[in-house]
Amino acid sequence: MKKLALHWKILIGMLLGLVFGFIMLQVSWGPGFVEDWVKWLGTIFIKLLKLIAIPLILASLIKGISDLKDISKFSSIGLRTIVTYVFTTVIAITIGLLLVNVLQPGDGVSEETIAKLTETYAGDSGVQSKIAEATRQKESGPLQFLVDMVPDNAIKSMSENKLMLQVIVFAIFLGISLLLIGEKRAKPMKELFDSLNDVVLKMVDLIMLFAPYAVFSLLANVVVTSGDPDLLYALLKYAGTVVLGLIMMIGFYLTVVGVFVKKNPFWFLKEISPAQLLAFSTSSSAATLPVTMERVEEHIGVDKEVSSFVLPVGATINMDGTSLYQAVAAVFISQALAFDLTFADQLTIVLTALLASIGSAAVPGAGMVMLVIVLESIGFPADRFPIALALIFAVDRPLDMCRTVINVTGDATVSMVVAKTVGKLGDPRVEDWDKHYEEVK
Ligand code: ASP
Repeated sequence: MKKLALHWKILIGMLLGLVFGFIMLQVSWGPGFVEDWVKWLGTIFIKLLKLIAIPLILASLIKGISDLKDISKFSSIGLRTIVTYVFTTVIAITIGLLLVNVLQPGDGVSEETIAKLTETYAGDSGVQSKIAEATRQKESGPLQFLVDMVPDNAIKSMSENKLMLQVIVFAIFLGISLLLIGEKRAKPMKELFDSLNDVVLKMVDLIMLFAPYAVFSLLANVVVTSGDPDLLYALLKYAGTVVLGLIMMIGFYLTVVGVFVKKNPFWFLKEISPAQLLAFSTSSSAATLPVTMERVEEHIGVDKEVSSFVLPVGATINMDGTSLYQAVAAVFISQALAFDLTFADQLTIVLTALLASIGSAAVPGAGMVMLVIVLESIGFPADRFPIALALIFAVDRPLDMCRTVINVTGDATVSMVVAKTVGKLGDPRVEDWDKHYEEVK
C-alpha cells in the first residue's frame, strides 16, 4: 500500500466499508456488530481531527497575521474573502433554484409516499430535535450572531469546538496586537506559534495515516444505519436534483480555478481530494478543517497568511452545498405538499438560504435545522414542519455527505482565489510525515 497515493487508499477504504456495510445488513447480527466492533475506529478518527482543530486555527491564524507587514493587508484579505464567499453562495442557491424549478422533483411524489414518510419520520426524535433547535435559534435577535462571535473567556471558547468563531476572533485580536508591539518584542511569540503550527500540521500527517481504515469504519456504519431502501427510492428524483446541482458546483469551482486562478483544475481536484473524501465520510466541514488546511497550504501552495483566515472562517460561514440543498429542499417540499410559491418567495429563499448557510454549524445534519428557518421565511405553516422534514429525512444523511464535499471544495477554491488576488499563491511545499523520522528513531 505504501506507494499508492493517499486519495486512492482512502477511496479503497471507503469502497470496502460500503461493501462490508451491505454484507452486514444481510445478517441479523450485522448492524449490532458494526455498532460494537467497527464504529469505534471512525469515532476515534473524528475525535483526533477535532482535537487538533483549535490549536491549528490558533497557531496558524496568529502566525499568519503576525507575518503580515501591515494591518491594511489583513482587512483587504478579509473583505475579499467575505465578498467571494457571498458570491459563490448566491451562485449555488441560484443553481439549486433553477434545477428544482425545471425538474420539478416534488410533483411526482404520490399521496401514498407522503403518508408513509410522514408516518415513519414526522414523530421521529431526529426531526423533532431539528425543529426544536431551529425554534431556539430563531428566537434570538438579528444581530445576536455578532454578540455570539465575541468570546468573554478565551479558554472556554477553546474548550468547545462549536465556539470556533470565537477562537477565530480571539486569534485575530491577538495577532493584530502582536503586530502592534513591534517586530523585536513580537519575535518570541511569533516563533512559538510558528513552531506550534508545524507541530499541528505534522499531527495532521500522522492522523491521515489512519484515514483509510477510519473511512472504512465510517462508511460501514452509514450503510447499516441508513433508512428503508423503498423510501430512499421514492426520493430519488429529489436527491438526484440536489446531487446534480452539487456536481454543477464542482464544475463551477473547476472553471474558476482554470480561468481565474489559472491553475490546472484537475491538479486542484487531485490535491484537494483527500479533504473531499473525508468531508464525504465524516459529513462535517469542521472535522475536515485540519486536513483542508494541510492540503491547501502544503499541497496547493496557498500562503498561510491567506489560508489561516479564509479556511476556518469558510468552514463556519461558507456552505455552498448546504445553501444549494436548502433551496432545492424548500421548493421540493412546497411542490410535494402543494404549497404555492411566488417569484417573491423564491427571492426570499435566496436571501434566507444565504443567511442560513452562514448560520449553519459545520457538523452533520446542521443544514436541516436551518432549512426550517428558510421554510418559515416563505410562510410555510409551522404546524406542518414535521411533515415537511419527514419528507426529506430519509435521504438527508447521504445528501449531507455530498453537500459537505461541496462546502469544503468551495472553501478551498475561495482560498485560492483570494491568494491569487493578493499575490500569495506560491508553490506547493509538501512535507512527508517521516521527513525527520530517521533523526529521532
Ligand atoms: N454537514 C455540513 C457541514 O459540515 C453542514 C450541513 O449541511 O448539514 O458542512
